[in-house]
Amino acid sequence: MAPPCELQPPHNPLICMDPVHSEIRFNARVASMQPSATLAMTARSKQRKREGFPVIGLSAGEPDFDTPEIIADAAYRAIREGFTHYTDNSGMLELREAIVLKLANENGLIYEPDQILCSNGAKQSIAQVISVLCGPGDEVLIPAPYWVSYPEMVRFAGAIPVSLPTSVHNGYRIDAEQLRDAITERTRLLILCSPSNPTGMLYEPHQLVRMAEVLEKYPDVRIVSDEIYEKIVYDGDHVSFASLPGMMEQTITVNGFSKAYAMTGWRLGFMAAERPIVKAAAKLQSQFTSAPSSISQKAGIAALKMSSEPIDRMVAAFRERRDFVLEELRGIDGIRCPRPEGAFYVFPDVSHYLGRTSRTGVTVNSSEELCFYILDSFNVALVPGQAFGGPYGLRISYAASMEDLKEAMERLRGAFASFD
Ligand code: PMP
Ligand code: GLU
Repeated sequence: MAPPCELQPPHNPLICMDPVHSEIRFNARVASMQPSATLAMTARSKQRKREGFPVIGLSAGEPDFDTPEIIADAAYRAIREGFTHYTDNSGMLELREAIVLKLANENGLIYEPDQILCSNGAKQSIAQVISVLCGPGDEVLIPAPYWVSYPEMVRFAGAIPVSLPTSVHNGYRIDAEQLRDAITERTRLLILCSPSNPTGMLYEPHQLVRMAEVLEKYPDVRIVSDEIYEKIVYDGDHVSFASLPGMMEQTITVNGFSKAYAMTGWRLGFMAAERPIVKAAAKLQSQFTSAPSSISQKAGIAALKMSSEPIDRMVAAFRERRDFVLEELRGIDGIRCPRPEGAFYVFPDVSHYLGRTSRTGVTVNSSEELCFYILDSFNVALVPGQAFGGPYGLRISYAASMEDLKEAMERLRGAFASFD
């Protein structure tokens, strides 16, 4: 396995067509920041659709289901009853109490309401944790492939993202030895995401326990456990990192409502951690954004109190789609793809096709070029693995209707066959 290495800012000329060309003198950290490739690809595919192309979009990382009605009703009620004012900066006590209950019942984690900070999505929670804990010279370990925003958030804090590479050969998992070898005296954080965006990989409990045994020896290294896909699991069980022996104090648990409750547009997430960390992040939030929307918070309370039936239904649909997409992909010559145990992504290794020329004369030297060939010639929008630090892969989101997935897989078969 390749050693850990400092991640260089990605150069994604095709995805990120928006470099800062301006006379205005920007903060250097903003000028060098890449826009989110997942959002950029999704915007690009929507634009192509508006231009009249029959694009099937499999680039967006969001459930294609609507928010359950019982949640939406709570929001309507909040508006009608005039619950439209600022709340406590950390989020309403009632919501934080409901989160405390959820963490105890579902995750085996004992927190108090003052250890919870509600934010505008898990994205803000993660950005705040990184910003309050890391500064210039600090290192943040990020297993790759990773969610696109982690390294950018780390660089924005002035810290150094350090990639721990994985591949299709080890099922996109780091192991305890790799982790131990990567820790230096400058390491401040490890960001874990299980189930993973973009690979769908879920760590097994014994693998997490071995990592915890390593991390226990480095009490100054904290773990951000991004558990946003915890409820979207098909094989195995999700384990909260903070519930592992010795890990409660070292871990910052991040979660949100976007995926499990199909609430991406509501912008509601939270972190749970030791009080001083929560206090520091709350201070940052108080100066930058304040609490999330009062209406979304009321909806969040309803989400935590509702029966699991709508989630079970959504996960059953995702499972069927995962099985279908995986079988289709594995039927394509040269593609290797581990079975994802969770989330709604597959991350096939397409290295077999890189450097090849299609019958129409298009040479694809990178996953990015392959993605654009597929979008331009076959009207399927995917996200190149390069954006996730996995240059040999593509991310396919199967949060789309079965009808679209069937058509998309047929087009993808055509796309890959065009290289023969
Ligand atoms: N973490 C991961 C791994 C994600 O895929 C997302 C999706 N955007 C987020 C965090 C943030 O989610 P949100 O801000 O919508 O809660
Ligand atoms: N997390 C989703 C994705 O990976 C949403 C887009 C984003 O926030 O980057 O596609």
